[in-house]
Amino acid sequence: MSRLDVADVTVSFDGTTVLDDVTMTVGDGEVVALLGPSGSGKSTLLRVIAGIVAPDAGAVLLDGVDVTALPTHKRGIGMVFQDNQLFPHRSTLENVAFGLKMAGVGRGEREATAADMLARVGLAGFGDRPVTDLSGGEAKRVALARTLATRPAVVLLDEPLTGLDRELHDRLTGELRAILLDVGATAIIVTHDRHEASAVAHRSVSLTDLQGDGPHVVALAAEATHDLRRRVLRDGAEVVAFDGDDLDGTFHLGVEEDGRVVAISTWVPHPDGWQLRGMATDADRRGHGFGSMLLRAGIARLRDEGATRLWANARSSALDFYVARGFRALGDDFVTDETGLPHRLVELDLD
Ligand code: ADP
Ligand code: MG
Repeated sequence: MSRLDVADVTVSFDGTTVLDDVTMTVGDGEVVALLGPSGSGKSTLLRVIAGIVAPDAGAVLLDGVDVTALPTHKRGIGMVFQDNQLFPHRSTLENVAFGLKMAGVGRGEREATAADMLARVGLAGFGDRPVTDLSGGEAKRVALARTLATRPAVVLLDEPLTGLDRELHDRLTGELRAILLDVGATAIIVTHDRHEASAVAHRSVSLTDLQGDGPHVVALAAEATHDLRRRVLRDGAEVVAFDGDDLDGTFHLGVEEDGRVVAISTWVPHPDGWQLRGMATDADRRGHGFGSMLLRAGIARLRDEGATRLWANARSSALDFYVARGFRALGDDFVTDETGLPHRLVELDLD
């Protein structure tokens, strides 16, 4: 799986700008919901990422490599369409194995992989069925299995659950989340249903917020936080690693502005709740609400993960910031070893 960057992408059709300088990052293994009204350009953005539409300006990067000029089949990107687009004259197994066949995988191996994928989406033993006999929900899962079978680096889902009846929609919402997390997919799911977005994705973004150079929240690799950690939190000292950086589940969110990381935060899972640490805004960009943006985005993601408690060792100078946002301050000031500054434990209930 991969990290995906969309950098300053602009697309116009017949002189009308549909995507205006869109910038977006999806971290490795992260599932992001893309929201926006009908006609705002969501499908167009997915097509740019997949290589079906060439942008007028900007770039698409996978793991930092510019793939804008690569054809679709060389990008390792899988797409699931709203209408599934299954091949009606092929069996269920053949549908799932189709991408592997195109990739030149031998028959035995591709059938085994396809059968395994069918099992993962809860359709073990369905291989011989004509796809025309499948129910709506089964067909949806076959479309997902077909896309995942080729192990794409990035999965793009264009309103995959729109138009299904309520009960099926709600069941598949949960299954989709489980399947995407199970395969560790880096994914974008387009929807206009906020409830669906928070049920499936780690975080949601609105296409309107991605346009232009305004500040926006991005997922960061640990190394991308080091510069600000050093300059803002460690007074220039070289030590940049935190305990917890390498814990399974730790993630980093930043605010990017004009292509520059101007604020950072690190979110660490502990048995007694999540710890927020390393909140910092670059000295020349304070007072623009970036800390609040990070807090909102991180808390939304923790709620999606079912977290119940968030805590932080807040610098006393930042205590008001946390208290104003619903945190409780606990106990007395204490001094942490690294900085020599007074801190206070603050906590927030998430449920
Ligand atoms: P969304 O998926 O958010 O509903 P789309 O990306 O499908 O929006 O479309 C955004 C706008 O671009 C719409 O006005 C649509 O008519 C227009 N559009 C999309 N594709 C094309 C195309 N190939 N040629 C001309 N106009 C297009
Ligand atoms: Mg669309």
